[in-house]
Amino acid sequence: MAVVSPSPRSDPTTRPSPYLDHHATTPLDERVLEAMRPYLGAEFGNAASSTHAYGWRAEAAVDLARESLADALGAADPSEIVFTSGATESNNLAILGLADAAGAPAHVVTLVTEHSSVLDPCRALARRGWRVSELPVATDGLVDPLQVADAIEDETRLVSVMAANNEIGVLQPIDELAALCRERGVVFHTDAAQAAGRLALDVTRQGLDLVSVSGHKLYGPKGVGLLRVRRSGRGRPRLEPRQYGGGHEGGLRSGTLPVAAIVGLAHALVLCLAEREEEQARLQGLRDGLLEALREALPGRVRLNGHPTRRLAGNLNVWIDGVQGERLLADLGGLAISSGSACSSADPSPSHVLLALGRPPEDAQASLRFGLGRGTTAEDIGMAVERVAAAARAQDGAV
Ligand code: PMP
Repeated sequence: MAVVSPSPRSDPTTRPSPYLDHHATTPLDERVLEAMRPYLGAEFGNAASSTHAYGWRAEAAVDLARESLADALGAADPSEIVFTSGATESNNLAILGLADAAGAPAHVVTLVTEHSSVLDPCRALARRGWRVSELPVATDGLVDPLQVADAIEDETRLVSVMAANNEIGVLQPIDELAALCRERGVVFHTDAAQAAGRLALDVTRQGLDLVSVSGHKLYGPKGVGLLRVRRSGRGRPRLEPRQYGGGHEGGLRSGTLPVAAIVGLAHALVLCLAEREEEQARLQGLRDGLLEALREALPGRVRLNGHPTRRLAGNLNVWIDGVQGERLLADLGGLAISSGSACSSADPSPSHVLLALGRPPEDAQASLRFGLGRGTTAEDIGMAVERVAAAARAQDGAV
């Protein structure tokens, strides 16, 4: 029997809909697909097959990818790169793996605005007797490093703070946090799913012990990611695997490596970094233009969520005064944006990130997240402004 692909859901509009949801996922770059193609075809060997050339060639491709990734991230050694299925797995491995290695329950520090793949493992630890401090953020979405310093106790084993937020794009002060963790002998983990490829990370210089990266957020394939694990120096993190088997990835993550996806991940990150400065400046220009145009179209009604400048260049998150959130999204005519994270877009409750900024639930629900990316054009921005303004005005008429 043939496998049937579902037909794409029909678009209610006749004009193509701009894709402005690059925090949810990014399209696979054609150049990345080309680099992956041999490993989806003739080069199908298992990288762990050590007795023949099929295996050796696959292993060589993985080695090269690992070296490029270590180099691109500033890791001291390729062995510090542990391949996973994505940032969710990397975050779970970092948090639960560290807790398992620690043995007795102790204490972890994180933020209320973290992604669920950090908050939920921390909450799982709380059910196992760990104490978890979920620190609040200021109304601009940023954490005060002094608050983190105050939260660290003798029993603190881990501080986990994301580099860039997936909803409001704010950039947490990870350099300062990593420095204070090093001083206090605590492991520092950062979820860099949204930051990698957009910010110039140098994990060794910045003192980031554990770093999670995801392929599909940086124009690479879905289903692959990595956890950078510092392997040398004082106080290096000790992790227990979450998954046992053939002992791949230094015993930390068993399972046959997805060679094509790994090659794609490396290519994707290298390309992002090569084009980073120019692309981030372009996105910032488009993003600033988007905010300005929305404010012109809906005077006095468009408010920014999150810090105005310490945020990803391609992120805009606003709430629109006087509109009902659910209706707003439904009236956007297929415009590909979201109100919160993709993982929770089926959940009608207001975003935990926006509530943490002190927004009332109605404002949080009337918020829109725009994620601009490589394919975004000025025309897309114009179309988005038109549709958002029309959807907001339609409600004015209805009330
Ligand atoms: N962390 C953040 C900040 C994210 O934005 C995402 C993706 N929504 C994840 C973790 C999970 O990544 P993945 O889809 O690779 O599991």
